[in-house]
Amino acid sequence: MKTARLACTCGKVRLEVRGAPIITTECHCNSCRAAGDHFEALGAPDFRSPNGGTPFVMMRKDRVDVVAGSEHLKAIRLGTGSTRRFITTCCNTPVFLEFKGGHWLSLYKSVWPVGTMPAVELRTMTSDLPDPGVLDGTVQIGKRQTWGFFAKLLGAWIAMGFRSPRVEVQEEVILR
Ligand SMILES: [Zn+2]
Ligand SMILES: [Zn+2]
Repeated sequence: MKTARLACTCGKVRLEVRGAPIITTECHCNSCRAAGDHFEALGAPDFRSPNGGTPFVMMRKDRVDVVAGSEHLKAIRLGTGSTRRFITTCCNTPVFLEFKGGHWLSLYKSVWPVGTMPAVELRTMTSDLPDPGVLDGTVQIGKRQTWGFFAKLLGAWIAMGFRSPRVEVQEEVILR
């Protein structure tokens, strides 16, 4: 299985991911936008698409390993939401997003060496976009999450034996 080596900007946090992604999406939901604005205010390295969406490479959790620097990971939650977005404390690199109970991790563009991130296959949650005119029509659009998207997620979960290991982290911050 092909292994990709990912890292935060300063190199303290390193990850290895094995195999092909479940799917690569570009999310336009309000939460990703709000979290993204927060990350940008912190000085995060480039993690967005030029259209403002947030690309994510969705990988099975059992195929993602933090091989160095896990002590530099901080989890961020928005208000009462249970989704956790992980960013590094060393250099404010967005690393991945974890849905509560999810069997996959959504890796941010910012951890992929330039030019190595898999291409976006699907734009999701475009119904949250204030101006859909920013999208160029080159990628399939899901106003909400599409059936094919859930089918791919379900297939990966079956392959994992229905396990959803939770990511352990020392620091968790709630934004209000
Ligand atoms: Zn770093
Ligand atoms: Zn989103």
